[in-house]
Amino acid sequence: MVLVLTGVCPVIAAAADPPAGTRLRIVTTILPLYCFARNVAGDDAVVENLLPPGVEPHDFQFTPREMRLLAGADVLLMNGLGLETWLDRVLAGSEKPHRVVVATDGMTAELIAGAGEAGPNARAGSANPHFWQDPTLAARAVTNLLTALQAADPAHAAAFARNAARYGAELAALDVELQTGLAPLKNQPILTFHDAFPYFARRYGLRVAGVVEPVPDLPPSPRQVAALGALIRREHLRVVFAERQSPARVVEMLGRDYHVAVAYLDPLETGAFAPEAYTRGMRENLHALTGAPR
Ligand SMILES: [Zn+2]
Repeated sequence: MVLVLTGVCPVIAAAADPPAGTRLRIVTTILPLYCFARNVAGDDAVVENLLPPGVEPHDFQFTPREMRLLAGADVLLMNGLGLETWLDRVLAGSEKPHRVVVATDGMTAELIAGAGEAGPNARAGSANPHFWQDPTLAARAVTNLLTALQAADPAHAAAFARNAARYGAELAALDVELQTGLAPLKNQPILTFHDAFPYFARRYGLRVAGVVEPVPDLPPSPRQVAALGALIRREHLRVVFAERQSPARVVEMLGRDYHVAVAYLDPLETGAFAPEAYTRGMRENLHALTGAPR
């Protein structure tokens, strides 16, 4: 937020909550957080995502568009766990939004270690950031967001609470659907494109046997590809999972060379920004898993 003070103008509190009657402006960093915010805010706040559609959070670079969005935000909802290293400089400066909500705040024992996964710039020893792949942890993030929105806009506290309760029920129903649907796949090994699914696997009893890109956006070396081939044989895998947002070349090569099918699992880091994108995407992943050869 840039404050230009001229003459004897009273100091405008750029970092204050908006006056009653105006809608809160919430900026989120990734698709799941956008969905959580849209569902909790309803019509009582404006929600925008910082990263444009199709742009992944690992290794993102700021442009003036994102600076403008941040400067106009009352509330910033971010993931934490080292996913948004590109926000560090903004958060350390005076132009950060008034309220910064970290979705993973309060999560400790339930986090899964994942040093280096968040990208080449990630802090060493940080946890795997893809918590939203477990809907019960998604519900925790919704609670964190609700608390912050109620503090930022007390006039709409009851409406936010109603919305959050309704969305929480949706998340609980999604969790039951995933539990039921994935029960036949207990202990099934899966080979995913990047390390976005350990929370999902833990929640639903799958086993991540390996990942094609251990470091996002860094294609595996020939030696790593050979190791993946050995893994496919050892684990008797019949499918390798690619991601629609990332080049499938290596996965297609593995499929051809090792005679396994190629299917798609969506990490849901980006995509079409709609309130139902998260729950719909999780259901699509369920169907991708149950429909894949095994
Ligand atoms: Zn990721």
